[in-house]
Amino acid sequence: MACRVRFAPSPTGYLHIGSARTALFNYLWARHEGGKFFLRIEDTDKERSKKEFLDEIVSSLKWLGMDWDGELVFQSERTAEYRAIADRLMAEGKAYAEGQAVRFRMPKEGKVSFEDLLHGRIEFDLGQHPSLAEDLVIFKSDGSPTYNFAVVCDDAQMGITHVIRGDDHIMNTPKQTPLYEALGYQKPIFCHIPLILGPDRSRMSKRHGATSIREYLEAGFLPEAIINYLSLLGWSPGNNQELIGKEELIQKFDLKRVLTTGAVFSSEKLEWMNGQYVRKLTIPVLTDLLLPYLEKRGYGTAVISREWLERLVMLFQERIFRLAQFPDLAQFFFDEEIEYSEEAVSEFLKDPRLQNAFVKYAALLESLEVFDTKTIEEKSRSLMKDLGLTGKEFIHPSRVALTGRTVSPGFFDTVSLLGKKKAVRRLQKAAKVFG
Ligand code: GLU
Repeated sequence: MACRVRFAPSPTGYLHIGSARTALFNYLWARHEGGKFFLRIEDTDKERSKKEFLDEIVSSLKWLGMDWDGELVFQSERTAEYRAIADRLMAEGKAYAEGQAVRFRMPKEGKVSFEDLLHGRIEFDLGQHPSLAEDLVIFKSDGSPTYNFAVVCDDAQMGITHVIRGDDHIMNTPKQTPLYEALGYQKPIFCHIPLILGPDRSRMSKRHGATSIREYLEAGFLPEAIINYLSLLGWSPGNNQELIGKEELIQKFDLKRVLTTGAVFSSEKLEWMNGQYVRKLTIPVLTDLLLPYLEKRGYGTAVISREWLERLVMLFQERIFRLAQFPDLAQFFFDEEIEYSEEAVSEFLKDPRLQNAFVKYAALLESLEVFDTKTIEEKSRSLMKDLGLTGKEFIHPSRVALTGRTVSPGFFDTVSLLGKKKAVRRLQKAAKVFG
């Protein structure tokens, strides 16, 4: 029988990176097996569940490309079902009312055990875990079902075959298995996957940096890179391959190969990987993705030609790791005025011959009819020769004069893209540094 799995977020916060990984393992397993992947919203906590969080979880999953099967299932719409099941348990003497609440009679002695796909058989001796023998509240006095009850009713009714969820639920499972037995439901296969850890090996949290998928979207990560990165947190295709696209992941993903030790999250690694995916984009696509970041910075792109913009993007494609870095990287192309860092001045604007060189260079650029990279390079090189300056003596200081920075993309490309007006003005201004 084809597998049926589910991702069951509670809309009490934004989609956490760890939850996204849980969703991904469910998704990959379903697609690998040709099974079904459902999305169930566990919104029984009316106080803490918010529409804003629900919308964000749904849009983040869509953005990541984890399409689910069928309709969304909302627990808040299923209270009558849970009530009927609780009534049945009470009629059979397996549960009892306690005021407005309902409690399920838990086994009092012996062992509760279940099979876990990753951990093998997990067993709890009730003698050693007296809290597991306490009768389980399945309906609260406010009339809402508890998590452990609703989850069993739903997983059984939805025909879930594999419950793939975080390790943090291992202690809930022995509360759920007696319910399966009491209700005569077939137990699913459990698969508790290890949590994502921060670099200090404690559970990944805000202290370690961004935790919600939304923050990664805003910082300019690509969904393909996040999927690739998350898939390798606790799983590997069995070789050292690091860049794996979604189709290949679906083909290779094997739940049984998930590791049981916590996986350490590295934002550097994710950033590196994102850079690899940025390199693969076509220039028009990358340009479209970068536009909102320029707009946000106030670089009104409506007045800029698309052709120029695409050339600019081409110049920086190899240097972008997160899309949000682009306005900073390309700042000197947009701002009218640039600042020279002290370090740049003291390192590169020292040689007194540069004053004359900048004046001459400004005049040369001014005189050019064609302002393309090739022409600029040829003419600049012959000027350098005439001035008796080496490439190093001329280009590094000119770069500082034109960009304010000591590093930039290809120098002659940069001059060409800056355009004649900006280039000439900046060189004239730089000549004044020697005043
Ligand atoms: N709503 C639960 C959570 O967010 C789901 C746990 C489960 O998958 O059973 O952790």
